[in-house]
Amino acid sequence: MRKYVIMGVQGSGKGTQATMLGEDLDLVHISVGEIFRLNVQQHTKLGAQVRRTMAAGELVGDDLVEGVVKARLAEHDWNFGFIIDGFPRNERQAEFFLESYDIDGVIHLDMPDSEVRRRVLARRLCSGCGMDYNLLASSPAVAGQCDVCGGELIPREDDTEEALAVRLRDYHQKTNPVLDIFRRKEYVVTVDARPDREIVQQAIRAKLGLPPRALPVPSQDGQPASSGQPASSGQPASSGGQPASSGGQAGPQPGG
Ligand code: AMP
Repeated sequence: MRKYVIMGVQGSGKGTQATMLGEDLDLVHISVGEIFRLNVQQHTKLGAQVRRTMAAGELVGDDLVEGVVKARLAEHDWNFGFIIDGFPRNERQAEFFLESYDIDGVIHLDMPDSEVRRRVLARRLCSGCGMDYNLLASSPAVAGQCDVCGGELIPREDDTEEALAVRLRDYHQKTNPVLDIFRRKEYVVTVDARPDREIVQQAIRAKLGLPPRALPVPSQDGQPASSGQPASSGQPASSGGQPASSGGQAGPQPGG
């Protein structure tokens, strides 16, 4: 059983890296932001409570967030463990989490704000299936249209200059102290989030003392064979049953 937290500023690739780590270790990827987005999309009561806050790039109230995390973890569908992304985001949430769950490690994806801005403002989300795109590295075959379902590609409601500025400020003010709490417990591994996602993933595994991720082995005709895990499944994502979110990295990819 492995329990990890993944932290990093928006667009640092938390969702992508969590999905890649979870795939072959059978960890359930839990993204609090995605749970909220799903609720907004489905017009639930919770969605109505968080929609405006999210759109402004602000943090949802701690009671609400803690209730969502508690309920999600109480589903106990994580036989081999979980990797939680987007939580905890402030000191109170960190204390709550440490009181309730023991964790094996905290992955801190490190990325300068200038790079975050560049990536986040290039993110697009399919309004049909939830597939993520990042226009910096790969555009869809037809501009503005999802390669998978043909749905319209739109920016996330909170991926605006204004909302991003709020989120970056919040991150530095509130989330950095969380890292300090975890550092005191020697849980934290910090990884440079700027390189290619495969390199970032291998660095995470090396620092956590995990075996490297299997890469596709070229077959005799030079084509990648099926023995490795693709970086992206090409499927609309799930993160513990949630719709896709932003990886902040190249290409269309499943959620997170
Ligand atoms: P994310 O996808 O992690 O960027 O989360 C999207 C939005 O959901 C954030 O901007 C917040 O409004 C809200 N949110 C997600 N996780 C938390 C959290 N741990 N505490 C407060 N608000 C959160």
